[in-house]
Amino acid sequence: MERKDYFVHESACIDAGARIGKGTRIWHFSHVMSGAEIGENCTLGQNVFVASNVKIGNNVKIQNNVSVYEGVTLEDDVFLGPSMVFTNIKTPRAAYPRNTSDDYVRTLVKRGASIGANATVICGVTIGEWAFVAAGAVVTRDVPPYTLVAGVPARLCGWACECGRPLRFEGRRAACIECGKRYEKRGKKTIVRIGGVGDGSG
Ligand SMILES: [Zn+2]
Repeated sequence: MERKDYFVHESACIDAGARIGKGTRIWHFSHVMSGAEIGENCTLGQNVFVASNVKIGNNVKIQNNVSVYEGVTLEDDVFLGPSMVFTNIKTPRAAYPRNTSDDYVRTLVKRGASIGANATVICGVTIGEWAFVAAGAVVTRDVPPYTLVAGVPARLCGWACECGRPLRFEGRRAACIECGKRYEKRGKKTIVRIGGVGDGSG
């Protein structure tokens, strides 16, 4: 018998043809459909659904009650808070079904991004690297990298370090008070990380 190098709780349902990476843990009552690909060292909490053809990177943490529908892609190190919601159809109608792979509108969550509890992401957007979506926000357009967005609809209201701490800019520069990473503003909605930690550059 093949020895699994990932963990699946006995109440979870993993359909044939799903691919799951080493060290990943899948908890109670979760369902992973055929054709889904989940990377290494991920955690899927209780009652998580992963649809067919969804790709999930490495070290992704998905809290309880999240459905990752077809059309959604999660890169490495993404965090999805409890009960956050994705959609994958712009104009759902029960009487006019739009439920084939061609109907699904793509959503991309890039490396390191966090989405807070109960937030909703309307399909068709890209959430940038290390962006931070506040709890309860409703995301209706792209979220630039390292930004903090909140509210309904979600608006830019700050900046987040890779470590998750809010960044405070003095002029064009900011340094994280927790980890020391440094950033520079390059535009109204654009910052870049500069230098390493404590290397004296920037
Ligand atoms: Zn930091």
